[in-house]
Amino acid sequence: MNAEVADRRILNYPLFEGDFGEPNDRIIANKMVIAAKNHQCFNCFGAIVKNERHRHHVGMYGGKSPFHYRYCSECCKAMAEFDEEKLAQRYSNGRKALEKSKGGAA
Ligand SMILES: [Zn+2]
Repeated sequence: MNAEVADRRILNYPLFEGDFGEPNDRIIANKMVIAAKNHQCFNCFGAIVKNERHRHHVGMYGGKSPFHYRYCSECCKAMAEFDEEKLAQRYSNGRKALEKSKGGAA
């Protein structure tokens, strides 16, 4: 898969299956970007480090201010492969790690 095809697949990967439906909901931006600073992945809760290429999606969803969603390069790779299982696995692993680090009940 060349980079251009991979990017298109990543950007077309549906983020909110089903619950995109408020009349004022809209996508403001959806593109591959280079991180200018560290961020957190919205799927796996892992770090997106400075200079990492990742998906940045900005949308208005039922609120007054736009919400930013960022996805790390590993999650992007899974999106390019349309690997739903891998994304779900990364999400649940990230979720567990997060709960552990907070000291909350897992
Ligand atoms: Zn991720």
